Amino acid sequence: MTDALTQLRELQSADLPVHGGRTLAYVYDSGLPDIDRIGREAVAAYAGSNGLDPTAFPSLLRMETEVVGTAADLLGAPESVVGTVTSGGTESVLLAVQAARDAHPGVERPRMVLPSTAHAAFHKAAHYFGVEPVLVPVGPDFRADPAAMAAAMDDRTVLVVASAPSYAHGVVDPVTAIAAAAAERGIRCHVDACIGGWVLPYATRLGRDVPAWTFAVEGVTSISVDLHKYAYAPKGTSVLLHRTPDLRRPQFFASAAWPGYTMLNSTMQSTKSGGPLAGAWAVLRSLGDEGYERLARDVFEAVDRIRAGVDEMPELAVVSTPDSTLLALTTDGSCDPFTVCDEMAARGWYVQPQMSFAGSPATIHLSVSAATLPHVAELLAALAEAVAAAVAAGPVTVDPAVATFIGDLDPNSLSEEDFDGLLLAAGLVGAAGSEKGELALPQRMAEVNAMLDLASAAMREALLVAFLDRLTRPTRR
Ligand SMILES: *Cc1c(COP(=O)(O)O)cnc(C)c1O
Repeated sequence: MTDALTQLRELQSADLPVHGGRTLAYVYDSGLPDIDRIGREAVAAYAGSNGLDPTAFPSLLRMETEVVGTAADLLGAPESVVGTVTSGGTESVLLAVQAARDAHPGVERPRMVLPSTAHAAFHKAAHYFGVEPVLVPVGPDFRADPAAMAAAMDDRTVLVVASAPSYAHGVVDPVTAIAAAAAERGIRCHVDACIGGWVLPYATRLGRDVPAWTFAVEGVTSISVDLHKYAYAPKGTSVLLHRTPDLRRPQFFASAAWPGYTMLNSTMQSTKSGGPLAGAWAVLRSLGDEGYERLARDVFEAVDRIRAGVDEMPELAVVSTPDSTLLALTTDGSCDPFTVCDEMAARGWYVQPQMSFAGSPATIHLSVSAATLPHVAELLAALAEAVAAAVAAGPVTVDPAVATFIGDLDPNSLSEEDFDGLLLAAGLVGAAGSEKGELALPQRMAEVNAMLDLASAAMREALLVAFLDRLTRPTRR
């Protein structure tokens, strides 16, 4: 009998690689094997510790206050700042929205003002907490429009959001103007620096031109920054900072309304593994300020070289001059971006398709890591080949009957049988070779993505939820 760990390694070999700098979304790779080992060992050492009660596990409390302190130092925070380590960017965003809502119990139907490019985590928060999102279109450079955002603020607004940078386009919103407009009206302003928060301060230090966005900006009341992105920590940590303890207070939850221990939580989780916090603490300690500066130099060199290479390719263009380590690429009419993604995958590179949105065409997303730097030439060669292959392949066509169906129908009117039929037609289930009741994921996603891209937002959401439902049926004996 093969042991479980051997089996795990076999299973894992089918996943996207988390090292090697060729996976340009989902994972962030320092390229330093020692750092990965230290993070992994720290996670393992604390896998059984419980962050539920900081008095029972004082080492976790100490690590948390130190990690929050390091984040505060990096982000120009005043002495008054406080913070919490959460499980990820989404939890940081959820808590920022929840705290803003609960700071205003008198506001009956609370709202938050978001640039249209804000991360979907805010829509999740809206859904969970009943805070209405007021979406404000961004400018032609995909940066938020501060005047339009100011105009959208009203008596019901409990939170205003800016990104540093936005995930989809990698640009930093004009935080100074947005935060000033919020402060003038006494509204909280959250800067979502989940992806850029640990790398942008070093970009500034390296002399790159980054608009102000930290606590140095007056009116910024909270900032989220993920450690499991550009702090290169193992998955499962983010930091949510509030400018003052008063601003954080509504985030905390206590309950004595039951006969067990008095529940006292700073996050959405209660029992939580000490592993991710220990992993992040160990990686932060090991890299230190100098380590992060070196990694920032590497990642920005990679970004600049990728950008220069893309500028040489007539079929591709960078959507908006990136402020950070993310690139969004568009194609001209000669090739389909989803096919380019497939062709990259066939060459061992994962780049992420982004659907068309609000009149802008579909794009290709790259989250560049420090580990990509030694492979930039290979990346550009693969991209050139992928583009040539996509040009040769021609446009992706969607069956007109399917297109009409998904374009015209209200997903709320569809039955489970309708979804079965649609998922089959879309190529998302029942592909050749799949056993009874088993899903076979298509190797090439261009056709599926083209179909999803035609669907309305509501239909795309419903289709993918139906897909996930079928994907996650239990494996029984
Ligand atoms: C990644 C990201 C989030 C959500 O973070 P998760 O860690 O995936 O939960 C929120 N905002 C931005 C800008 C991000 O890039």
